[in-house]
Amino acid sequence: MSLLAVGTLAFDSIETPFEKRTDVLGGSATHFAYAARLFGPVELVGVIGTDFPEETLKAMSRAGIGVRGVETAPGKTFRWAGRYEADWNTRHTLDTQLNVFEHFDPKVPTAQRGARFVFLANAQPEVQMRALAQMRAPELVVCDTMNLWIDIKLGALEELLRKVHGLVVNEEEARMLSGRRNLFQAAKVLLAKGPRFVILKKGEHGAFLLGRDVRFALPSYPVEDVVDPTGAGDSFAGGFMGHLAAVGEVTPAALRRAMLCGTATASFCVEGFSTEGLERTDRKGLDARVAELASLVTP
Ligand code: AMP
Repeated sequence: MSLLAVGTLAFDSIETPFEKRTDVLGGSATHFAYAARLFGPVELVGVIGTDFPEETLKAMSRAGIGVRGVETAPGKTFRWAGRYEADWNTRHTLDTQLNVFEHFDPKVPTAQRGARFVFLANAQPEVQMRALAQMRAPELVVCDTMNLWIDIKLGALEELLRKVHGLVVNEEEARMLSGRRNLFQAAKVLLAKGPRFVILKKGEHGAFLLGRDVRFALPSYPVEDVVDPTGAGDSFAGGFMGHLAAVGEVTPAALRRAMLCGTATASFCVEGFSTEGLERTDRKGLDARVAELASLVTP
């Protein structure tokens, strides 16, 4: 087992310009896992409440996601509600209920502490750090975060940044965290805080990888019918880390290829609500999109 993720499993309520869905399966770790499983085994560490259907956990397991590190706590599962503007790139968080996640103390099962690749999906920075502290000697640790944690947990987040190799953030988060408006200046400031590389997600405009020894930019895959962008960032990370864990190396070439894999994977996520788009996808469909994306950017 080489890839492990810690983060939220959630019920999301989502309003798009076209549709509204209540209490669908979501969570940063959930989206990540549904993406990463397309590349190989992935193990989850997280918490659910007693309201989380047993059948959903079984379905995750059948999809190839290891759920031994998912614990059930008394109370309700994490809930998040959001609304998208017509341009899709603007999202408003309407509600966040931490519920059982508020006092979550992650416990990485002993058998999984040797994972070589670790993704600290969006969660309280303290939870991310406590999970990381249990890992033996991971080769690549990448973390995500969100405006909420930048607002209320900045000190802990800065401490976390000193311990990770990679950071995945969107434009708004990069600006908040660095205090710079220009994204390249922002990336420089973020790199000085610890990570070896930063990935700046620009929604439908694609993503930049800015590191000490590698720079790469990619547009998003051209999706004609966006249904729900929730989880696109986590799915990108799932494809990105899934590829690196599968090839077992973190060279500049592998990082570039991982950007293609992450971008293609995220494009499936936005084609359905919740994890539906990713669940409909198989390796063949994914490989075809990776190849198409590569040809799109090759002269
Ligand atoms: P993304 O669209 O990639 O930013 O991820 C959205 C997912 O993150 C949703 O399924 C939410 O359940 C989850 N989420 C939203 N807010 C938070 C938060 N503050 N901490 C952890 N997970 C969150």
